[in-house]
Amino acid sequence: MENSNKKILIVDDEKMNIMALAHFLKPQYDIVMATDGASALVEVEKHKPDLVLLDILMPDMSGFEVLIKLKDASETMNIPVIFLTGLNNAEDEEKGLLLGAVDYITKPFNKTIVKARIKTHLKMSDYFHTIEKLCMIDALTGLSNRRGFDKRFETEWGRAFREKKSLGLLVIDIDNFKIYNDTYGHPQGDNLLQTISDVLQKTINRSSDFIARWGGEEFIILLPDTDMEGTVNLAEQVRLNVMEISIPCGKLNFTGLNDNIVKTQSSDGSKPYVTVSLGASSKIPVEGDSAENYITEVDTLLYKAKKNGKNQTCTPDSK
Ligand code: GH3
Ligand code: MG
Ligand code: MG
Repeated sequence: MENSNKKILIVDDEKMNIMALAHFLKPQYDIVMATDGASALVEVEKHKPDLVLLDILMPDMSGFEVLIKLKDASETMNIPVIFLTGLNNAEDEEKGLLLGAVDYITKPFNKTIVKARIKTHLKMSDYFHTIEKLCMIDALTGLSNRRGFDKRFETEWGRAFREKKSLGLLVIDIDNFKIYNDTYGHPQGDNLLQTISDVLQKTINRSSDFIARWGGEEFIILLPDTDMEGTVNLAEQVRLNVMEISIPCGKLNFTGLNDNIVKTQSSDGSKPYVTVSLGASSKIPVEGDSAENYITEVDTLLYKAKKNGKNQTCTPDSK
């Protein structure tokens, strides 16, 4: 049952070959077909199959060329490809496997064995995807981690560039977190990170907004299709929502040693609660802009917010 809705693309210039195999596999899998290399690539993009069965000898574009193209694009590089081919010499098999095919089966083949191998490779692919997902999640907060963020950022940056849309970015850092840890202990510090993560999740409005834990006590939020005004509003909302939950930050009010804390106390007249500082910006990426530089710019704004006294948002217009 677990494979019942997996999708397999069968590529072969001999339609008869496809039909026979499709018929055999159909009860268990959704089958998509292509009879040449170019349309195979079109079908891959359209249907995003879970596995491809690929002939090698085809007119115009060979199976090897199709595989090279699939391996070239990040969206298709992890789709398992099994060569199913009349070429039954060791050299071609070696070439196919070195190009990245997961398996190489020669014709005439035993359908039951092909089916068994498909099952194995789909299972391995599932494991791969599970591991890939786990590697992108921060265990403490359940948010995406830096690796997950990098992947999403690349996608959103590309989209914003193509569609000429604003991409908002917030970098958030807990103020005086070291003192909080020192006062309450590391486990309580971990609880605070979870609480801040909850606040961030409750504050964002759109399903396209994306939060990640960027480093130890630093978070980052991507806001697709959000202009400067919207981004700064959200930044301030985050800052106020963190203040609103009023988590006391320990002995800060007794130390009097840290200039920044004294300022926080006197500027709003309240008890010292946990606060965050933010860098906020929004831009429509243009040719020559770099995604990395964008993060550095916003990180610099965060640094400015710290320098200016913490518990505030700095934007490119801030002094
Ligand atoms: P600032 O207001 O300038 O941001 O100062 P800060 O004390 O918040 O920042 P600093 O960079 O000096 O210290 C960050 C602290 O965060 C130190 C580190 O031990 C703590 N930290 C980093 N990751 C974790 C974590 O996963 N759990 C806990 N409890 N603490 C962490
Ligand atoms: Mg900090
Ligand atoms: Mg920090």
